[in-house]
Amino acid sequence: MDRDLFHKCVEGNLLLLIQAFRKKFIIPEFDAFAKKINEIYKTVEKQRDGHVADYIPHLAKFSPDLWGVSLCTVDGQRHSVGDTKLPFCLQSCVKPLEYAIAVHEAGTEQVHRYVGMEPSGLKFNQLSLDEEDKPHNPMVNSGAILISSLIKPGSNKAEKFDYVMEFVKKMAGNTYVGFSNATFQSEKETGDRNFAIGYYMKEKKCFPEGADMIDALDFYFQLCSIEVTCESGSIMGATLANGGICPITGERVLSAEAVRNTLSLMYSCGMYDFSGQMAFHVGLPAKSGVSGAVLLVVPNVMGVMCWSPPLDRVGNSVRGIHFCQELVSYFNFHNYDNLRHFVKKQDPRRPSGDDRVNFTSALSEFALSSMDMDLKDYDCRTALHVAAAEGEMTGAQDQYLMSA
Ligand code: GLU
Repeated sequence: MDRDLFHKCVEGNLLLLIQAFRKKFIIPEFDAFAKKINEIYKTVEKQRDGHVADYIPHLAKFSPDLWGVSLCTVDGQRHSVGDTKLPFCLQSCVKPLEYAIAVHEAGTEQVHRYVGMEPSGLKFNQLSLDEEDKPHNPMVNSGAILISSLIKPGSNKAEKFDYVMEFVKKMAGNTYVGFSNATFQSEKETGDRNFAIGYYMKEKKCFPEGADMIDALDFYFQLCSIEVTCESGSIMGATLANGGICPITGERVLSAEAVRNTLSLMYSCGMYDFSGQMAFHVGLPAKSGVSGAVLLVVPNVMGVMCWSPPLDRVGNSVRGIHFCQELVSYFNFHNYDNLRHFVKKQDPRRPSGDDRVNFTSALSEFALSSMDMDLKDYDCRTALHVAAAEGEMTGAQDQYLMSA
């Protein structure tokens, strides 16, 4: 390989490579971590409780034995075990994504003029609004139906669908995202409760001016019918874990504000009537759906997609919940595990105080992209001088070599 070819190969992935060589990944011992994930997977596989949702034929056809877990870290390191390549519908797991897109587009204030941010304490498809006649939050059906009317107002149905699909694909780093028309048709046919919620919200004037309630419902049914695999779903989770930047493509998909809001609401309202217990026992933002999907986010570390169709009494995947509990019983991922003197758990993360991406690594990237590295500031120092003065000698040397 000559110098030019080497440059071509590394230039798009320089930060990733530098982090790899310096063992600066968020989970440095990734093989050992993946091995533990496999062990947890095996333990959870033995779980036989729960029933596959059967209110529509497309869901009822899935075997109760299906079980997959994929994870993707904020550095783009990935691991999968089990049935992770089979498509399934997002169902309610689309609610946080839909909400994130709405906030990204219109901002927090505009979205929350129409929907609350408080757990409802009621079933996800309850015919109920809060004291201000708003849906309780974006993670229940009323909230998600309302939010579907806020996305791309004024566009036609096809444009709206393409717009959301585009977002979802970007979140998944252009890996598998599909659509199940069979699910969409069945959701419409069996959606009496959702129609009732729609009419109730119409009567209470919940929708923004000019919005059509039936169109909003139709769009909501389409969104529930978007398909992913565990693999692609985990990358979506990783985009949320990474503050809105997809770790596979490096593209900013969602604003930091949209992601922060979304994770907060997943934390307080994401797991149906188990949300309080999930926050208590697992301490991480998550969202489940009747397809048996559980999207789990470990902020600043990784996204995880668990999928196993049998559901418990409240509608959460039995194996999905069990996996989340096992994960935090072994690793210190619970939001409040990091308090000093807390129980002994494993921390797979790189030791703190160790900057993941120092700024000389960033300079190396600029050098490779043919930027003029001799540019000086007011006191005639180049970026290299500044890096060296900050004590980043190794990085400074790398950068010097690359620009030479
Ligand atoms: N399509 C389902 C409904 O609106 C979503 C169910 C779910 O995953 O919570 O009832």
